Amino acid sequence: MADTELMPIPGQIDPVPAPRDITPREDGRLDLIGLPKSRIRELFAEAGLDEKQAKLRSKQVYHWLYHRGVTDFTEMTDLGKTMRPWLTQRFVIGRPEVVEAQHSADGTRKWLLRTSDGHDFEMVFIPDANRGTLCVSSQVGCTLNCTFCHTGTMRLVRNLTPGEIVGQVMLARDALGEWPKGRMDMAEDEDETAYTSDGRLLTNIVMMGMGEPLYNFDNVRDALNLVMDGEGLALSKRRITLSTSGVVPMMERCGAEIGVNLAVSLHAVTKPVRDEIVPINRKYGIEELLKACADYPGASNARRITFEYVMLDGKNDSDEDAHELVRLLKAHNLPAKVNLIPFNPWPGAQYECSSPERIRSFSNIVFEGGISAPIRTPRGRDIDAACGQLRTAAEKKSRAERDREEAAANS
Ligand code: SAH
Ligand code: SF4
Repeated sequence: MADTELMPIPGQIDPVPAPRDITPREDGRLDLIGLPKSRIRELFAEAGLDEKQAKLRSKQVYHWLYHRGVTDFTEMTDLGKTMRPWLTQRFVIGRPEVVEAQHSADGTRKWLLRTSDGHDFEMVFIPDANRGTLCVSSQVGCTLNCTFCHTGTMRLVRNLTPGEIVGQVMLARDALGEWPKGRMDMAEDEDETAYTSDGRLLTNIVMMGMGEPLYNFDNVRDALNLVMDGEGLALSKRRITLSTSGVVPMMERCGAEIGVNLAVSLHAVTKPVRDEIVPINRKYGIEELLKACADYPGASNARRITFEYVMLDGKNDSDEDAHELVRLLKAHNLPAKVNLIPFNPWPGAQYECSSPERIRSFSNIVFEGGISAPIRTPRGRDIDAACGQLRTAAEKKSRAERDREEAAANS
């Protein structure tokens, strides 16, 4: 992989390939997507603008780039006539390449995307009556191997860059036609309310796509800071949720440096079961994890931590498990809600989903324990867009090929 270098990931023993902040392009131009204002300013200065110009132009370009979603410098009408071609010669504003876009019967949409160095990943948009949630990927594949997760059967290819992460949100806004419209000649001191978004389809973001976001901490933080910046995509941190399988050493920094809502993939209440289905538990156990949750900066009764619990038939779904879940959450005095996720099957999975009656009974026990425990309705199952079903077509094909090869070898 010519465009990547090795980078140690906190908590992991092996370094994984991590891309540079700017992926080199054949035409020599630099892609600004994913860069903060200070870096854009630096690049403008390196390209020859004096300090004052670099500061002014980076502020203007940043606004067009992240707040208006413009990808063509010629549309940046408050930049001088000579400035626009100057920028076009040296820079681009990219988006991840769309390989395939699918629409589910229930309105869920899934995009298969490709990085400029040829790796595929997926993002999903889930519209609801009063909100629209974009499920964003943080890695191509995953280093962890949760046994019920299809992404976990893929090896980790590489971390996504800030540009590839924020690029998903921008691509979704492109597809939904949601960039603020209005006068395109915004002066520097103009009131931001002078233009409005023409729709509010995308209201929430969940870092619940492919990968473990806390194993790609820096890039996820940098991307989400662009998403949350009032001068950037301007989405409130209260509308963003990061889901982790339990990378305990990174949780405090997540609260302090990103400050979004936290979801924790708990999925089991005893060591043997969690060790088996969420193997990171062998490294950071349930007690340690719940303690880190209790210390999570910003958690309160108004901003509760979500505990995700996938319902696996006969594995983690008994009434005793439900009682133990209530006991554990209460023992740690956690401002918690529980999200019960019916298991979404995938070809070759070793589990089945618990019956609706079992899930109902589990949910009732947790509710009776005083903790909210709604059952999540699976969305987009028909296009393999539901939780844990993401795994790219290229990988699926190579696995199918491997299976065929194995069958041929055994016959
Ligand atoms: N790596 C992070 C975020 C991505 S997974 C994490 O594990 O939290 C998002 C959620 O989907 C997690 O709670 C995950 O455990 C759950 N999930 C994975 N596979 C699933 C499946 N087949 N059915 C239902 N939920 C699944
Ligand atoms: Fe990775 Fe999350 Fe899937 Fe586990 S559930 S394999 S951490 S993506």
